Amino acid sequence: MKLWIQPCDACAQLYGEPASTEPHEKLTLNGVGFVKDATAEQHFTCARCGGVFARILTGPAPRQIWMMLNAGQH
Ligand SMILES: [Zn+2]
Repeated sequence: MKLWIQPCDACAQLYGEPASTEPHEKLTLNGVGFVKDATAEQHFTCARCGGVFARILTGPAPRQIWMMLNAGQH
């Protein structure tokens, strides 16, 4: 993945949202297999900006969010 991309608007909006939020239209689910437990965490890549998201699906509710793994510092 590209490091320190500049998120597009859709990714910037999704960042930090609850995991129950649906992925935006430019996100594609990465191939499963490299994640030990695909039900606990899904990884997505944005076709527009190259942003990589982790959608956390287990654990305490405040941690079940969309995390951007390669967002640049603001
Ligand atoms: Zn994006």
